Amino acid sequence: MPDHPRVFLTGFSGAGKSAFAPLVAKELGWRAIDTDALIEQAAGKPIAEIFASDGEGHFRELERGAIVHAAKEDNMVVATGGGAILDVENRRAMANGLVVCLEARPQTIVDLLGEDGDGPKRPLLGDGDPLARIIELKAQRQQYYALADVIIETDGRTTSQVIAAVVDAVRAHDPWFSCQPERLLLPEERSAAPPSEPVWVEAASRRYPAYAGWGLLDRLGSLLRAQGIESAAWIVSDTEVLPRHGDRALLSLRAAGFRTGAFAIPAGEASKRLDVAASVYDWLVAQRAERGHAIVALGGGVVGDLAGFVAATYLRGMPLVMAPTSVLSMVDASIGGKVAVDHVQGKNLIGAFYQPSLVVDDVSVLKTLPRRMLVEGYAEAIKHALILSPELLSLLEQHADDLLHVEPAITADIVRRNVAIKASVVSQDERDTGPRAILNYGHTIGHAIEAAGGYTEVLHGAADAIGMTAAAEIGRRMGVTPPALMERQRAVLERYGLPTKAPPGIDAERVHKAMMLDKKVVGGKVRWVLLEDVGRAVVRSDVPMEIVRDVVVDLLRA
Ligand code: NAD
Repeated sequence: MPDHPRVFLTGFSGAGKSAFAPLVAKELGWRAIDTDALIEQAAGKPIAEIFASDGEGHFRELERGAIVHAAKEDNMVVATGGGAILDVENRRAMANGLVVCLEARPQTIVDLLGEDGDGPKRPLLGDGDPLARIIELKAQRQQYYALADVIIETDGRTTSQVIAAVVDAVRAHDPWFSCQPERLLLPEERSAAPPSEPVWVEAASRRYPAYAGWGLLDRLGSLLRAQGIESAAWIVSDTEVLPRHGDRALLSLRAAGFRTGAFAIPAGEASKRLDVAASVYDWLVAQRAERGHAIVALGGGVVGDLAGFVAATYLRGMPLVMAPTSVLSMVDASIGGKVAVDHVQGKNLIGAFYQPSLVVDDVSVLKTLPRRMLVEGYAEAIKHALILSPELLSLLEQHADDLLHVEPAITADIVRRNVAIKASVVSQDERDTGPRAILNYGHTIGHAIEAAGGYTEVLHGAADAIGMTAAAEIGRRMGVTPPALMERQRAVLERYGLPTKAPPGIDAERVHKAMMLDKKVVGGKVRWVLLEDVGRAVVRSDVPMEIVRDVVVDLLRA
């Protein structure tokens, strides 16, 4: 149980906070308060009347008082108003409990508000088109809802499933948040806000800025304009990301005067195909997209690779903006200009080097990334640290909990540092002919294990973690990698929940065959990236095959 036994339910009006609070409380054996009800009681009139007669400012003052009061109660589930989390004082007060956001799609909210017939209680929705107003307000507030400790999607879930999810979150929550009083504040609201200068990627073919920060999707339009992109920007996303984050991107682009629209490909690696790219071309034709218009890739590495490939080829090249939404795509895939689709015979076989004009890493979107994908992405960040940055490795070791909870300032800082590392390597070797090879640390065995598992049993980041463990063991047997470094690497991977052993059932012979087909094998010799120390990687072609075989066999037997 958490240190401070209270839960604040937040989320847009109509997501069910008032209805769920007493049900969750009953399950926990706690009590429930609804801050809107407290305000109505204190003012002696309904909220709509407070808005009409005293104004929104007065309502917000009463709300602040109600939240500060509720934040003193123990064993309490507090339902807060939809706009409460926007106020910094409310967030400071709520930081002494677990903050759970109930998330619902705009159409669900319209349907629910229609059902309970209490429209007048929600004065900010006004008299116009409720769906349009909800989309707009929700997009404006999303970066604040993303600050919640836990986000629970209510769409498609029954009441008892939502209650169970909230109760599980309360029970599972370790008290990490009690020593993080600033966690609900935006970076700029903290005493020492990190600088928001971009990292510049100096690739031979193009120089471009990469920004990392909390809530940057709301500034997407102005960031495009600052890069000289004008008139139209077409968002390519996927079916998981677009419903969650598309509205913010669209609103920001519209507010900056862009003609815009969005197209979603089915989520997942299976979409990295030429026929899916063709469906994006068809959509661009229908939009009358022109050469000066931009393609905005809003999604993980799959969307980035595919939309990048489309941008490289449609009209012989359109400006590309990367707006990555997974850790992997922020720290790795969106920087460096490798764009591709898969062929039935292999991954990324059809592609190009095509640098974006701008990269916008809004780390607030990582709050909705499934935990498994979050962990996977950190495998790449750990790799960057091991091969190039002792300082980054120390930060990753110290802040694992904060990063796995997507704490705003440290997440933005770590993403920015990774972008800088990838940018420096890419700037020296855009087309991957020399120094960029050190980024392959752990890849040779990692990719072979991924391939031997049919790309479904072991995901990419997990495979890289196993591959890094194997590379460290090869390095140790070669007398290159100190045993203490190997142990340090194992500890940091395990700290993030990454595997250091292959799952059972993977065949050593298949791994060996896959290794020999690897792009990095030159003239039958594998070029091994090994670590002499943190930040000191070397490329060696003289590793005896017997050592490799023994390490693979041990890894699969372990
Ligand atoms: P992905 O794009 O498939 O994303 C993983 C899943 O998470 C998808 O279902 C996606 O819809 C979902 N998702 C993404 N962001 C989300 C968010 N904020 N909230 C909720 N759901 C979200 O996979 P990935 O791991 O991001 O990228 C893997 C791809 O990247 C592979 O195809 C790989 O080849 C490519 N890649 C490319 C490079 C490069 O240099 N171009 C480098 C590394 C990897």
